[in-house]
Amino acid sequence: MAKKRILTGDRPTGLLHLGHYVGSLANRVRLQDEYECFFIIADLHTLTTKPSREDIACLADNARHMVLDYLACGIDPAKSVIYLQSAVHEVCELDLIFEMLVTVPRLNRVPSIKEMARSANLSELPFGLLGYPVLQAADILLPRAHLVPVGKDNESHVELTREIARRFNSMYGAEIFPVPDVMLGEVPTLVGTDGAAKMSKSLGNAIMLCDDAKTVEKKVMSMYTDPNRVRSDIPGRVKGNPVFIYHDSFNPDRDEVDDLKSRYAKGKVGDVEVKQKLAKALNAFLEPLRERRAAYEGRRGYVDEIIYDGTQIMRAEARKTLEAATKAMGLSAVWNRISRKAEETKKKQAAAGGGGSGE
Ligand code: ATP
Ligand code: MG
Repeated sequence: MAKKRILTGDRPTGLLHLGHYVGSLANRVRLQDEYECFFIIADLHTLTTKPSREDIACLADNARHMVLDYLACGIDPAKSVIYLQSAVHEVCELDLIFEMLVTVPRLNRVPSIKEMARSANLSELPFGLLGYPVLQAADILLPRAHLVPVGKDNESHVELTREIARRFNSMYGAEIFPVPDVMLGEVPTLVGTDGAAKMSKSLGNAIMLCDDAKTVEKKVMSMYTDPNRVRSDIPGRVKGNPVFIYHDSFNPDRDEVDDLKSRYAKGKVGDVEVKQKLAKALNAFLEPLRERRAAYEGRRGYVDEIIYDGTQIMRAEARKTLEAATKAMGLSAVWNRISRKAEETKKKQAAAGGGGSGE
């Protein structure tokens, strides 16, 4: 039986961080053998909040860095397709088709959109930003994916994708699209180093996958912990405390973590020790990623080739899906009928030795 498919990806807005890893990347790496994977470099999605020439000029290099992060994490281009969204034009056509299957009030209820507008300092919602999750539905359904590993902020987008897939299939009486499932990461939303709800590049509260050991240490030592704990002999709060959330996610030494937690709760350990052990655990986790990254960085042109090859594969898939979808809709028949007739007429005219029409 053919393998089921995964589609997920990221906007090329900069380097990836620990939040991306626990939210989505870890699942991607884990499921590479079980699923046929498509990873999208969603550059068109960046236009929704960053449409300037200067922003666009950064996309190619951002995409390369992002793919290096993928490879560093263990994504294997021999198994998985990595492609550039803006080079697969069919996504725009599918997006337009899907736009007819969703209402504006429904899009207004997608919680992440207003959040994105706010963080991009946009007082009014651009049409394209409102349509962000519709374009994402087109991304997911173009390779007809069954599973979408993403972080919590993307859950509502996959829900909308499911609605669109069902709507399309029932409206046009054909099972063209699977109704994809969402898969949240082990930590659906990783907190930032400053204690803000979400680690995010734009908030400057992120530990990057390619940060060096010194940088990680510096970021960890200045992390937000329990604000009420002004001295280390005061019992601290473990639950919801970012340093322990990170320990839980990245420190494989369960005994050490349990010991730190119980001493913290009793006021028997200083923040410094908790943080030093966290920095050590994080660096141990990141070291193999750094090594892999460096090895790939040494191979000039390799990343571009990966994106190039992946995009060719995705283009072929996209054509197949769009053909099936427009056929089910009867849309492709419109041009087919007209063009067939026109070609027949032209042939007849040529056979009669006539010139153009009207003669
Ligand atoms: P940032 O907000 O840091 O700029 P982003 O949200 O723009 O990153 P996206 O391209 O929107 O990055 O998201 C890529 C994937 O990573 C999505 O599946 C998203 O849910 C996930 N993700 C991003 N940040 C986090 C986080 N802090 N915790 C868990 N998952 C996250
Ligand atoms: Mg985001």
